[in-house]
Amino acid sequence: MTVRLSEKLEFIYQDILKRNPGEQEFHQAVREVLETIGPVLVKYPELAEQKIIERICEPERQIIFRVPWMDDKGEIHINRAFRVQFNSALGPYKGGMRFHPSVYLGIIKFLGFEQIFKNALTGMPIGGGKGGSDFDPKGRSDAEIMRFCQSLMTELYRHLGEYTDVPAGDIGVGGREVGYLFGQYKRLTNRYESGILTGKGIHYGGSRARTEATGYGAVFFAEEMLKVRQDSLEGKIGLVSGSGNVAIYAIEKCQQLGAKVVACSDSSGVIYDEQGIDLALLKEIKEVRRERLSAYAQARPQARFTKEGNIWQVPCDFALPCATQNELNGKDAQTLVNNGCKLISEGANMPCTPEAIRIFLEAKVAYGPGKAANAGGVATSALEMQQNASRDSWSFNHTEQRLHEIMRNIHKDCYETAAEFGDPGNYVVGANICGFLKVSRAMLSMGLI
Ligand code: NDP
Repeated sequence: MTVRLSEKLEFIYQDILKRNPGEQEFHQAVREVLETIGPVLVKYPELAEQKIIERICEPERQIIFRVPWMDDKGEIHINRAFRVQFNSALGPYKGGMRFHPSVYLGIIKFLGFEQIFKNALTGMPIGGGKGGSDFDPKGRSDAEIMRFCQSLMTELYRHLGEYTDVPAGDIGVGGREVGYLFGQYKRLTNRYESGILTGKGIHYGGSRARTEATGYGAVFFAEEMLKVRQDSLEGKIGLVSGSGNVAIYAIEKCQQLGAKVVACSDSSGVIYDEQGIDLALLKEIKEVRRERLSAYAQARPQARFTKEGNIWQVPCDFALPCATQNELNGKDAQTLVNNGCKLISEGANMPCTPEAIRIFLEAKVAYGPGKAANAGGVATSALEMQQNASRDSWSFNHTEQRLHEIMRNIHKDCYETAAEFGDPGNYVVGANICGFLKVSRAMLSMGLI
């Protein structure tokens, strides 16, 4: 069951389906925004007259290119890479690069589209963009990853710049990959431009707390949602899907705030550890040894590994989806609600299907959409850009405090906007409208761009 759109918005949506065939995830992300912004067009009819929605839904520029590279055995591989420069009304395009075999234009466009609103919500001067490749890094040696990154940057570098487009990491792209990408950019341009990439190592221009930022931020957002309900994370039982960058640091912050995370996952299965996830062990397996999650159960006998299991079946007070898009469907949402889950904060982008979101909203679960809840990563990337621009380097505590303050502000903006537009407590409405208005106002001021 989908929410009905007004005639005008339905017309816009049908046109988007026609102009972007086969891009399912992009359609889903656009539809979600259109379903919430009806009241904005009533209040500000000039936005419809100026065709702001149609303009926002069409990327400013889309770059698709070939990435040839050679594996360790001398075999040649050809991958496809993308950079979608979606909207630069608020600042240079900003958004991560994803390396995963499922990547195609529809995924990069959904991510880039959401990034516009997310970046606006941070209050920082950054536009929205996203990129990636269908390259599968699993099982590849360091040397293969390096050659791939170098080949990709050999084309991408000409489209980047501190004032133009500033990529970062995402699924499959962490500190190692950003390092190789930055090294190749420097080599090609003969310029040490720290501000062209974020997520860099701390020893060459990266920001402290950037690695932790997305996961920590999603937990700060959860904390704010609970505060409104006179509650906290202390003593609560939680689930965190995934076991990558976002998941690991979400678990870390939950533990610091007194919650117990009893399950996490990867694409091979689910770990259930009743005594709480042993974070040092998880980091060792995922960040150092780069192994599959089953290694966790081998090292910790009381933990149970379920191959291809469903993490959402584990009873919990709160859940943080931190793996990938559409990982939590309507049936999973119903299971979570039936088991007493009271809060969802999305570390991943669009992890809940539209059906799941409806179930959470109807059940009055505190639901924090990724656009708002995982904005801490890109916000801290913008802090990295600030440090690079002033050739400065801040302490961990200072950077974490800034992140915390930004997440509190995002929560407040979303909460107040939802109330202003007649749907108190609905953070989907709050995030979409608040982000949309910030971008729209800038676009209106700049004329027909
Ligand atoms: P990582 O590559 O570090 O980790 C991804 C995790 O999710 C891994 O455990 C991976 O398992 C799992 N996963 C990925 N794809 C699938 C899939 N198709 N099915 C099941 N499991 C899957 O990525 P991140 O932690 O950086 O990103 C996770 C999510 O957070 C993404 O949605 C990303 O867009 C979002 N995000 C990330 C930000 C960041 O700063 N990194 C910022 C904002 C949002 P496996 O290893 O088995 O593939």
